[in-house]
Amino acid sequence: MERGDNTKCIHLEEDEGTYKHYGAISFPIYQTSTYEHPAVGQSTGYDYSRLQNPTREHLEKTVATLEKGIDALALSSGMAAISLLMELFQPGDHIIADSDLYGGSIRLFDHVSQKNGIRFTRLYCCRDDIEAAIRPNTKAIYVETPTNPMMNVSDIGAIAEIAKRHSLLLIVDNTFLSPYFQKPLTLGADIVVHSGTKFLGGHNDTLAGFLVTNREDISERLRFLIKTTGAGLAPMDSWLIQRGIKTLGIRMERAQSNAFALARWLKTQSLVADVIYPGLAEHPGHEIMKRQATGFGAMLTFRTVNKEAALAILEKVRLIRYAESLGGVETLMTYPTTQTHADVPKDIRERNGITESTLRVSVGIEDIEDLLAELETVFREVEQEQKGTAE
Ligand SMILES: *Cc1c(COP(=O)(O)O)cnc(C)c1O
Repeated sequence: MERGDNTKCIHLEEDEGTYKHYGAISFPIYQTSTYEHPAVGQSTGYDYSRLQNPTREHLEKTVATLEKGIDALALSSGMAAISLLMELFQPGDHIIADSDLYGGSIRLFDHVSQKNGIRFTRLYCCRDDIEAAIRPNTKAIYVETPTNPMMNVSDIGAIAEIAKRHSLLLIVDNTFLSPYFQKPLTLGADIVVHSGTKFLGGHNDTLAGFLVTNREDISERLRFLIKTTGAGLAPMDSWLIQRGIKTLGIRMERAQSNAFALARWLKTQSLVADVIYPGLAEHPGHEIMKRQATGFGAMLTFRTVNKEAALAILEKVRLIRYAESLGGVETLMTYPTTQTHADVPKDIRERNGITESTLRVSVGIEDIEDLLAELETVFREVEQEQKGTAE
């Protein structure tokens, strides 16, 4: 019987019943750059930590198992992972990318990948005609689902079918749901991208990124690239992410339950114009997510009735922190217009629906009563202020 994800987060099957590492329950941090060889032409399996390190390898196996891939590479950040991924492509290659992506991915594509000769077509993979955008030189489709920050949901299986028909790679950034709620490789994706900084690490204390694949040829190519370009995750950071993953399941469940409660509360507020959370039945991606994921995650976006209300909320929250990033135990609120998506051209930002009254919340695992109590106080204060200026 295949083990469940909560068990997989804690135990690697191949390590069961072995007394390696003096029986240490916590996998050791191999803080070494290099390894002694037993004899000429022999190796312990490790030569130099840019290529591989036991702590990093242990983490990579855990993530590969969770995503049901054959290989996972741990890198120094999510952006390091996506940068390495771009090395799979040649000048002249064309990639179809979702319009609403993490701002850093858009910046990389626009300002680095383009310079290297890679061309992009941006469309809304949740609704536009992907097939019509395919050219003779198209090599890949790159999506996030749900997207950051607008929570658009794409049908991974349907896009995978198009990708297969045209021999394109399907790349899915699975950061928002983590493998605990969604496994894109099992739905037909070829490569999964993660910012391990977010839910996998889960504590807002370490940067990391992952590339996961179920294809031997891609794994081989990526192994060559990580060895050559050198952005592999350091041993200490690998250990921190491994430690975070041990509680991935219970954190995801708890954060999701808080997100549901928060979404429902926000919907009752007169300061709120719009709540975008795929767990709500009215969300356009709700049915697709019910099919392709086992949860809706803990990210939600809402729009206030005006810009002033959004700014006042950000300035007043205390327990909820006004900060970028997401996926940690702490609830964070951010303002995509000037923070995460500041480098996205204004016209694209607005087309994506990111307005000056849009706030994004990464819901943490605090007691929901405390989160709601704080928002209750903040919202009432903002309402009073708005009434004051209206009079
Ligand atoms: C944060 C994030 C990234 C980038 O990851 P870093 O670890 O910050 O480099 C990529 N994709 C998504 C969806 C993210 O949220």
